[in-house]
Amino acid sequence: MIYYGRQSVNEQDIKAVEEVLRSDFLTQGPAIERFEQRVAEYCGVKYAVAVTNATSALHIACKAAELSRGDTLWTSPITFVASANCGRYCGAKVDFVDIDDVTYDMSVDELEKKLVAGGRPKVVVPVHLCGQSCDMERIYALSKKYSFTVIEDASHALGATYKDTRVGSCKYSDMTVFSFHPVKIITTGEGGMVLTNNQELYEKLVLYRSHGITRDASKMTKESDGPWYYQLIELGYNYRMTDIQAALGYSQMERLDTFVARRRQLAQRYDELLADLPIRIPKQSADTNSSWHIYVVRLDKTRTSKSKVEIFEEMKKRGVTLNLHYIPVHLQPYYQALGFKQGDFPASERYYEEAFTLPIYYELTDEQQDQVVKALREVLS
Ligand SMILES: *Cc1c(COP(=O)(O)O)cnc(C)c1O
Repeated sequence: MIYYGRQSVNEQDIKAVEEVLRSDFLTQGPAIERFEQRVAEYCGVKYAVAVTNATSALHIACKAAELSRGDTLWTSPITFVASANCGRYCGAKVDFVDIDDVTYDMSVDELEKKLVAGGRPKVVVPVHLCGQSCDMERIYALSKKYSFTVIEDASHALGATYKDTRVGSCKYSDMTVFSFHPVKIITTGEGGMVLTNNQELYEKLVLYRSHGITRDASKMTKESDGPWYYQLIELGYNYRMTDIQAALGYSQMERLDTFVARRRQLAQRYDELLADLPIRIPKQSADTNSSWHIYVVRLDKTRTSKSKVEIFEEMKKRGVTLNLHYIPVHLQPYYQALGFKQGDFPASERYYEEAFTLPIYYELTDEQQDQVVKALREVLS
């Protein structure tokens, strides 16, 4: 069976993890800092804070942005639920901005419309769906005009570029979040990271990652009682990544460009091999170079009568498990209970009717990809 994504772990990765297991520190040791520095350097950003996963990364990013009760967070309906849930963790209201019909990222026109109409989010979370960056320069300009914090959910987009920057540079945002779940571009098993160029945000992120405890005398409310002393100055969490995970992440960074190059090659092969089928292949805007976390196609319902359920079932019989990224978040029962309903975000709902995800990952061979294409050709004919 061919699945939509999987990790690539080699002997060097295993050795890196083994070294940590034989060392003095399993957590809070030197591997974390090394991994953070490596990712920061790669992305061209000042600060990086490694955490347990991208969900906790989004949570502390919202906390650092001081999102709280009475505030509002906006994100795209076509994302993993965590991009919206982070707002709810902070007690904030969540609202959505419909997607662009071509890139499937948050539509900046819709964002602007909603702002002009009087909407005042405290935080906006653009999601780089599939690994293709949103139009960050425009979003960032709007954030300056309307005073909101921009947190890029770049869970799909490590290794991608936007204009003259790497995604993660935070040139056009306040913070950027990555995920290192095994299906993502690199993995630490579970893991995430927040990047920023802002020292004040960085210090808050570090505080929230580790309980809200500080050992920095300059941040304390009174003089230290002695060498053992620390103070709890905020209500934080334990979102620390282990050194075991960080060592794996550091080792995986060595192959990041190789991973992304192969994903791009596979995407280009799909583009060519699928061109004549009754589906819409993904379009790339000129400013971006995607990392291709996922390859999403849309069924052209005017050219085929096959339903998506039929396609999923018939592909499975042929050894290929398809997937769907994502069910619009506003249609989830939890968000419906908050007042959202079918029809609220028509472009996202149309996308949901038509989209499905084909397998793409570093170790997928040309032969396996040909098998996927052959199966899809049979199913759609
Ligand atoms: C995977 C993913 C997340 C959550 O990542 P975890 O590391 O599993 O918490 C958040 N947002 C998007 C867009 C994702 O794809």
